[in-house]
Amino acid sequence: MRTLLLAVCSLFFITESIAQTNFEQDSLKIRSIFDMALLDGKSYEWLDHLSNEIGGRLSGSLEAERAVKYTENELKELGLDRVWLQPVMVPKWTRGLPEYSYIETAPGITSIADICALGGSVATPDGGLKAEVIEVQGIEDLARYGRERIEGKIVFYNRPMKADLIHTFEAYGGCVDQRYSGAMEAAKYGAVGVVVRSMNLRLDDLPHTGTMTYGDLPAEQRIPACAISTNGAEYLSSALKLKPDLKFYFKQNCKTFPDVQSFNVIGEITGSVYPNKYIVVGGHLDSWDLGDGSHDDGAGCVQSMEVLRLFKKINYKPKHTIRVVLFMNEENGLRGGNKYAEDAKLKGEQHVFALESDAGGFTPRGFSFDTDAANFEQIKSWEPLFKPYLIHYFEKGGSGADIGPLKDDGIVLAGLRPDSQRYFDHHHAANDTFDAVNKRELELGGAAMASLVYLMDKYGTKTEMTTVKN
Ligand SMILES: [Zn+2]
Repeated sequence: MRTLLLAVCSLFFITESIAQTNFEQDSLKIRSIFDMALLDGKSYEWLDHLSNEIGGRLSGSLEAERAVKYTENELKELGLDRVWLQPVMVPKWTRGLPEYSYIETAPGITSIADICALGGSVATPDGGLKAEVIEVQGIEDLARYGRERIEGKIVFYNRPMKADLIHTFEAYGGCVDQRYSGAMEAAKYGAVGVVVRSMNLRLDDLPHTGTMTYGDLPAEQRIPACAISTNGAEYLSSALKLKPDLKFYFKQNCKTFPDVQSFNVIGEITGSVYPNKYIVVGGHLDSWDLGDGSHDDGAGCVQSMEVLRLFKKINYKPKHTIRVVLFMNEENGLRGGNKYAEDAKLKGEQHVFALESDAGGFTPRGFSFDTDAANFEQIKSWEPLFKPYLIHYFEKGGSGADIGPLKDDGIVLAGLRPDSQRYFDHHHAANDTFDAVNKRELELGGAAMASLVYLMDKYGTKTEMTTVKN
């Protein structure tokens, strides 16, 4: 009994000391990743080029194609084992000439409103569209008002994002149905157009675009949809209280063309132990066109590229094949994400872990994981390694839109979670620009991602390890 107890005790101490050694090794490795990112990082320079030399990268645009070529070349410069383009057909929608709009409170008395077309919207008639307005707080109000009060009018969706929610993405999720399905639903009640309050938590003059759908509505029933700035929405709402019969005018010149070919940009370091098992890190290369897409999602792209560059720089040879994927067309179609997953499935590639950065280039706080209890327990045990960098908020939850299609029982999905308080000040608006991204915050995000990928690569996912034993 005593011998057995001693044996158990020494086994315990051996396991403990292995854990201790691993912790020390991992701490040092992670320190070297952060040092390299902060002292000799490349992500900010890449973002500068993407934002200031190329600009907004809407799917199907010349800028999107230039971004493909630029990132492909930059990845080639890193000396990866393979860099290639994965063809994918993407939608092509253009904004055309700038939109124009005003509120007419009495004949000849007008004030300008700041609007932009929603992505995917049809144009207004050539001379623009002028009609009375009915304000609603959401799609559910349409049934309450009914066709007799909506027909022939412009529906104004004015439900604001909830300011008391700490996670601003939750507030976004609580409103975005107005933008995405608002026009389709209002058209069913005979509305002639739709104005949506911008998905923005602060009051300013910038309209925020974003994708919308008409579902199966036939072409002749599709009505134009625009976003109005939050200040504009407040003004329109108060004007409507005084003058319920005021008129809203808008003119937009957007157009949908046939699909065109574009590409996901992919680079990889081949795994030294498991070359046929894949870890993916990525963001989306396309962006909206009003700003230059620095936060959404230029930041995520350059951070993902930085992960592979950091590994090369610190001479880390991963066990798994580590891929960076710059997905095309997340914003208005998700074609790149779907295509990547489809091809991976066709080729029978085993993906064990995927990490996306698509929540802005702000100070990283931690990660969100879409996985089971066993994997999450292992991941939670790594939190102390991230504590020195204040990036140790690990929670269960969503990951990223582009890696979503990879989801199956065998893969762990994760998303970088930066501070989200200022994200929706910029999201899909003209001020999503390079100057809004802080160099250090961007670099900390890339380093945190590289550190997590390093740990996942070294220890493997729990799912993967169980499969190996079987
Ligand atoms: Zn995005």
